[in-house]
Amino acid sequence: MDISTYAIPLPSRQSAVTRRLAFAVGLLFVVGVISAAGALFTIANHLDSDDVHETQFYSARALENRITASKNYITSYAYWTTAFEHLSGEVDVGWAYTDQNMGKTLFTTDGYDGVFVLDREHTKYALVKGQLVKSDISAYLQASASALVDQVQTQSDLTKPISTYSLFEGWPALITASAILPNDERPLGDPKTTSVLVFVDKLTPTKLRKLGSAYGLTNLTLALDETITDSPQKVPLDSTGYSLIAELERPGHHLLWSLLPILAGVLVVLTLLTAFLFRHALRSSRYVDTSFDAMQRSNKALEDANHALEASEERFRAVAEAASDWIWETDRRLVITYLSGRFSAVTGFSDRQWLGQNFEELLQCDTTPLSLWFSKLTEESHASDLRCTYRDQSGQTRYCRVSARPIVDKSGVIGYRGTASDITDEVAAHAQIQHLSMHDALTGLPNRNKLSRFLEEALLLNEHSMPLSVLMIDLDNFKPINDSLGHPVGDVVLQEVAHRLRDCTREHDLVARLGGDEFVVVLNGMDTHSEIDKFCTRLIGSLHQPIDHEGHALHIGASVGVAVSRRQGYIASELIRCADIALYQAKADGKNTWCYFESHMSDQIQSRRQMEDDLRLAVKNHEFLLHYQPRYKVDGKEIVSVEALVRWQHPTQGLLGPDLFIPLAEQTDLIVPLGRWVLREACETALTWPHDVLLSVNLSPAQFTHSDVVEDVREVLVGTRFPASRLELEITENVMLNDTEGALNTMNALKQLGVRLNMDDFGTGYSSLGYLRAYPFDGIKIDKRFIASIGNGENDRAVVQAIISLGKAMGLTVTAEGVETEEQLGILGKDECHEVQGYLMSRPLDKTTFAKLLKASRFEQQLDPRVL
Ligand code: C2E
Ligand code: CA
Ligand code: CA
Repeated sequence: MDISTYAIPLPSRQSAVTRRLAFAVGLLFVVGVISAAGALFTIANHLDSDDVHETQFYSARALENRITASKNYITSYAYWTTAFEHLSGEVDVGWAYTDQNMGKTLFTTDGYDGVFVLDREHTKYALVKGQLVKSDISAYLQASASALVDQVQTQSDLTKPISTYSLFEGWPALITASAILPNDERPLGDPKTTSVLVFVDKLTPTKLRKLGSAYGLTNLTLALDETITDSPQKVPLDSTGYSLIAELERPGHHLLWSLLPILAGVLVVLTLLTAFLFRHALRSSRYVDTSFDAMQRSNKALEDANHALEASEERFRAVAEAASDWIWETDRRLVITYLSGRFSAVTGFSDRQWLGQNFEELLQCDTTPLSLWFSKLTEESHASDLRCTYRDQSGQTRYCRVSARPIVDKSGVIGYRGTASDITDEVAAHAQIQHLSMHDALTGLPNRNKLSRFLEEALLLNEHSMPLSVLMIDLDNFKPINDSLGHPVGDVVLQEVAHRLRDCTREHDLVARLGGDEFVVVLNGMDTHSEIDKFCTRLIGSLHQPIDHEGHALHIGASVGVAVSRRQGYIASELIRCADIALYQAKADGKNTWCYFESHMSDQIQSRRQMEDDLRLAVKNHEFLLHYQPRYKVDGKEIVSVEALVRWQHPTQGLLGPDLFIPLAEQTDLIVPLGRWVLREACETALTWPHDVLLSVNLSPAQFTHSDVVEDVREVLVGTRFPASRLELEITENVMLNDTEGALNTMNALKQLGVRLNMDDFGTGYSSLGYLRAYPFDGIKIDKRFIASIGNGENDRAVVQAIISLGKAMGLTVTAEGVETEEQLGILGKDECHEVQGYLMSRPLDKTTFAKLLKASRFEQQLDPRVL
């Protein structure tokens, strides 16, 4: 047999099979390439669109975090009693700017480009780039300031800040605004009158770059909306016309560009190989096998990439859900298997340090052991959160919120996956707010909130064991120091007082400041009078020591009210109330003393308090009127002067005389506005009388100490154009008791205005006529008690006679007040007193009746004033 007959067809048969095979392989190759390319493009597309979402999500989150931080920060300034006291009315620029309570550090350290205090009408305080400016906020801000104020004031919860975006100096800025409120328990007034604090955070390129990099964003910046219409990752900033935009990572794009050349290479090689197969059929079959293998490998690579991408997509979804910072995965025994790139940025550790370690070694939770928490996460459960702590690479404790969900396959839970958000700043801000809400910012002492909480807890514990005493302390003489030397000195005094109070007490006692110059000491386990007396002696002694301030010795004192739990009960608010009442009594008893609560004080003080409130309202509502009582020449006929005497038209109690409210007004400083009103009203009325009638107005010693009485009188004289020579001021000798030298200076200054000075109630005090020599008085009024008794015996008459002759010798006009009988008038005439005043001639009369009396006496009509 010819071998060739077998040999020839063999190649052609083989070639036909190989060709078919080659064709099939070629077809498979083309399909493979097309489907691989298609899959690649789809994945790349997916990746890019995920990237857009991720970028937009993190940009928005970065901004949100900045808003939250700014809101927390502004709250710590605006919800603060001290700020309320200095900023609500007229802004205390010294406190805010000079003392840097709201000064340039807000720009230099905290980066706020603008700080403003506004009310409904205008800008009260403006700080731009740390510099004090006089301009209105609208010179900088595009948004309407009044709308901003309105938005803050109409919030249901006034303490919540608001935020918005607006152009500031033409550039987008984050505006945070909050109502300025006290953080103690005083009642809030009308929200429309609250001042508003505004912080402006200009979103400068530097700030944005920093913010962006903290969120793994590249080139976070601002762009005008119309220039980036086709950038879907942008985050628009409301009506500013700008959007926040970060550069896209475009992972799909990168993937395409890294795989396409390889694929193209494979395609070229395979095409060449196929061609070669046709020409070298036998050898090519081997090549075909190889190429097929290669393609399978490349398909496998694509498949792996596909899986990895799916996993990463899933991770991203988890991130988006938990809105967190770094992502982790563990196996079911909590051994860490994956940590995202952000892990290193946040913790400072490299992920290699922790991969393979147990998750519990990294994080701790003080409420639940981590392993227990994980074991409760079952397949059905939703993602759940846990607050954990850990030490970062620098050894600092940080807080994170971990959220986790189980990874499940057919065999059950095979591990856990989740996110960890860093909340260290949030926790710190929360702790700071907590501290601020419980402590007084100036002295660092517990405030009223903390006091109530402490008392409630202590009383709950002590009801059946240890007694407890509450001492309410009020400083004497603090207000004058604060008013005359300024708030910074007042603050120094309060800090020193806080220090001394802490020194006097033991560790388990509590010292709190309630505001102003009011402090409270709670003594634990001490309630006998002898112990408390000893403590109060020590405490008052300590506070009585002069406070040295820049070489000046400042003197203060203290009054203390004491309530004891064993007697006044175990209710915190009741104990405070009783101590407060006892304090009131201590002050009334003369300062620098202490007083124990007794039940009868309650009613007395209650009605006094009520009266005080009424009086405050009365000053506001002008419920006062003046009666006028004439003073006559000693003949009892010719009117020389008229004394203005104040009355209170009380809404329920009718017309009240001055003895019922002047002492209270003096103790509460209300005497100052009341005194000014009396002076003005009297001068205005007296302008309608004949020019030779003098006007007498009573001045209280409290007006000398609480206000600039010379300025007050000058202002009224200028304002009413009442001639100073017609005005007489009646002053009692008590004025000289407190501050002899100061009183003399004031009186000399009053004299220089051209007014006359009369010493009222002469003889009732300690003063002798010798006093009169040193002071610039023009006259004296002998007190009515002497006059009442001159008819009774020679002795009293002799005293009055002595006063008259001495007064005359000193060139003073001598008046007898309280003349009620003809007999008294007769005696005074004989003893040659100059002038008289009393019910006998005329009682104090209202304005209209007095005008009639004056007219009648002037026209010498036979109208007898005694019948009026
Ligand atoms: P005062 O300055 O010694 O005024 C005289 C008081 O004696 C007046 O009482 C007057 O009504 C009363 N009086 C006048 N004639 C007689 C009389 O013949 N017999 C008797 N028994 N009393 C007579 P009033 O109006 O109740 O004022 C009491 C005190 O209240 C005044 O004593 C004065 O110290 C104070 N006061 C009145 N108005 C003012 C005021 O505007 N400012 C201040 N700081 N104190 C005022
Ligand atoms: Ca008088
Ligand atoms: Ca008098």
